[in-house]
Amino acid sequence: MKTLFAIFAVALVAVQARGQETPWPFPELPYAFAALEPHIDARTMEIHYTRHHRGYFNNLVKATAGTPLAQESLETILAKISTLSAAVRNNAGGHYNHTLFWQVMSPTGGGEPEGKLAEAINAAFGSFAEFRKQFSQAALTQFGSGWAWLCVAEDGSLFVSATPNQDNPLMDVVERRGTPILGLDVWEHAYYLKYQNQRGSYIEAFWNVVDWPAVAARFAATQK
Ligand code: MN
Repeated sequence: MKTLFAIFAVALVAVQARGQETPWPFPELPYAFAALEPHIDARTMEIHYTRHHRGYFNNLVKATAGTPLAQESLETILAKISTLSAAVRNNAGGHYNHTLFWQVMSPTGGGEPEGKLAEAINAAFGSFAEFRKQFSQAALTQFGSGWAWLCVAEDGSLFVSATPNQDNPLMDVVERRGTPILGLDVWEHAYYLKYQNQRGSYIEAFWNVVDWPAVAARFAATQK
């Protein structure tokens, strides 16, 4: 009987989630929880995706229910975040950031970018090694919870930044606005089970799973 109720409850939530029909659905994880091992462990991935990301999503649904925001794109919402509530800021940011994060990692990731993205990185930072150093430093020195980003500026050039909490470079509250094409979650929930307080080890491991073709596709989309 309990099982029947559980199945019913899950089905109801699924129907409700579909009923929302927002332009920002909860995404599928594009790989298994264990796919990024040993760099990111399966248990961390499972908790991060099913609890943390799901929590931001559910709270965003609640915070926007019955308002015009429920029908607006995340990009539109983020661009005017200074006018909205803390609940929308935290959860729209959380939902956008994690959706991007899952998509820029892959079990076949690592290595270095090629083509136009590689050229843009060289133009902005001098070399891939220098870019990697600056991004890692931004991730390491972000005090408390937050994110490190590789962004495309208005003029098409690249820059590195970091933002606190669930803020991101699309928000109208950040020091430098841009379109993020690579992001690294440096909240402790992203690494504490495997790396404890060693954020630097987690950042080093991250480079082994970066999906450069996915980042290059995001870069290309900003150049149109
Ligand atoms: Mn997170």
